[in-house]
Amino acid sequence: MKSKNVENISMKLISACLLGVKCRWDREDNRNDKALELVKRETLVPVCPEQLGGLSTPRARQEIQGGTGRDVLEKRAKVINEEGNDVTEQFVKGAEETLKIANLFQVKEFIGKSYSPSCSCSKIYDGTFSGELIAGRGVTAELLMRNGIKIREEENL
Ligand code: SF4
Repeated sequence: MKSKNVENISMKLISACLLGVKCRWDREDNRNDKALELVKRETLVPVCPEQLGGLSTPRARQEIQGGTGRDVLEKRAKVINEEGNDVTEQFVKGAEETLKIANLFQVKEFIGKSYSPSCSCSKIYDGTFSGELIAGRGVTAELLMRNGIKIREEENL
């Protein structure tokens, strides 16, 4: 059997919920028609960092409190869910596992779900569960960017 040669295939990682995978906190998806068009032309690898970090689906909503994904990685901020539980460890683990997949497939680009505390590439909720947004990246988007992977917001597809 021929082994798959990934060297000549340009792959991108994408938040799995954008392709219709029901991995969101409320067991729904975030279907993005442009992402579904893109998958016909390019090889997209779907990932859900929160599931990869060991969180269940469904799960309580989560937001970064006291900063952004950068602050979480530098241990200055935490990810807390709506029930008040600290899920920072699972978020960091999910980001690391996603990076592992990115390296395995030599991925150069990540397309992330907007506003997600894991996947967003530009804005996240402010940690008060009130719908307010602040500038900043999610934990996974931040880790991927630090490792040389281009990050791209779904809204810019
Ligand atoms: Fe979608 Fe990312 Fe949230 Fe998973 S962690 S549900 S892929 S936005």
